[in-house]
Amino acid sequence: MKWLPLTKLKAERRGRSGRLFELAQDLMPGGVSSPVRAFGGVGGSPIFMSSGLGARLTDVDGNSYWDLVGSWGPLILGHANPQVVEAIVKAARRGSTFGTSTEGEIELAQLVEDRFPSIEKLRFVSSGTEAAMTAIRLARGATGRAKLIKMDGGYHGHSDSLLAAAGSGGLTFGVPSSAGVTQGTAADTLVVPFNDLGAVERALEANRGQVAALIVEPIPANMGVVIPEPGYLQNLRSLTSASGTILIFDEVISGFRVAAGGAQELYGVVPDLTCLGKILGGGLPLAAFGGRADLMNLLAPSGPVYQAGTLSGNPLATAAGAATLRQLRPQTYQQLELAASSITAAVATGAEQLGVNLQVNRVGSMWTMFFNGESVRDANTARASDSAQYAQFFHAALASDVYLPPSQFEACFVSSALLPPDVGWVADRLLAALSKIRS
Ligand code: PLP
Repeated sequence: MKWLPLTKLKAERRGRSGRLFELAQDLMPGGVSSPVRAFGGVGGSPIFMSSGLGARLTDVDGNSYWDLVGSWGPLILGHANPQVVEAIVKAARRGSTFGTSTEGEIELAQLVEDRFPSIEKLRFVSSGTEAAMTAIRLARGATGRAKLIKMDGGYHGHSDSLLAAAGSGGLTFGVPSSAGVTQGTAADTLVVPFNDLGAVERALEANRGQVAALIVEPIPANMGVVIPEPGYLQNLRSLTSASGTILIFDEVISGFRVAAGGAQELYGVVPDLTCLGKILGGGLPLAAFGGRADLMNLLAPSGPVYQAGTLSGNPLATAAGAATLRQLRPQTYQQLELAASSITAAVATGAEQLGVNLQVNRVGSMWTMFFNGESVRDANTARASDSAQYAQFFHAALASDVYLPPSQFEACFVSSALLPPDVGWVADRLLAALSKIRS
């Protein structure tokens, strides 16, 4: 049996986190439940958090941090938001799961469909992975076609066909990017660079009548945040419509984040299907996919495309989601915009003064600070960023009590719990961290 001598730890700043990580590595692969948490992208030992309140996180050693990760996106209202907590507690008192339909699903589905006019019907699932995986299955079932197009550097969860990335010549044959994904599966996934319409045209042309779906994060955030060039998303819409290909917007991150109605509201583009997650569950495991009713009606039990889930539409998660969505008002987005723009403007100016090559890509309250001399418009330009410099920045920020994503290729998020007086504090600490970077 493992014994944790918590009281005997040295009075190091992160001694208990370090000790827990040692134990975790014996118990779980890499010591984590999800890979990027292991700090592989920045080095050092990961921090074990014990609580969060508002815009702050506290670790198991009692250190507290300004949180610019927000659990990778869900916590748009910050940690332990009182209304969300109350909704979860109330729901839990009534029982945690029944394996039946509940009123909470209707309430949340209505809230979502009011905000996303393209979603006529939706299905709740438990993770973004499930949402994207099933949206692809639905597209294949609806079209009778096998292939799909995804973007280089686009992440849609870890289902097999979406883990494929291109090798050279990847327009016709995908290459698996994880052990365990077969060549056959990867071969049906065509990978193109983001912001490159010509590549999409060529992929559709070379595979005419065979492409079931094009799946895209309309604002990619998993190669770091990348901004769609003017007209790009509109043109994806036209190309997919013309070729009978189903357009899937993966708004697991951008949904409710960049606007109540997500990137599709911001850019005025109507996809056939949309994947949602993260904010949708208010910090509990919940996701959904939805869209045109004629497509959604192909799902079991009304149609032949199978999908199911023991905990799908869980009552605690739908309660947390509804309590979150109800609090997202126009002024919330104004406040988020102000906080994020103040922080990123201060950092960009500071970088210029210090002579640090930095590109800040931001949409609303999500952004990435790329240590890069050139603008970042796709996965290739993102990969050219100086990850070693980012790692220095990450650790310097941590020493100043700001928790950034432990990888150059992820997004920072602010929550509405970061109040105006604290925004300047966070910006100052990031500036101080920037000044510690050595080239
Ligand atoms: N889609 C996008 C755009 C994501 O960012 C993620 C996760 O980060 C997923 C899908 C997968 O979601 P989950 O981690 O809930 O399976």
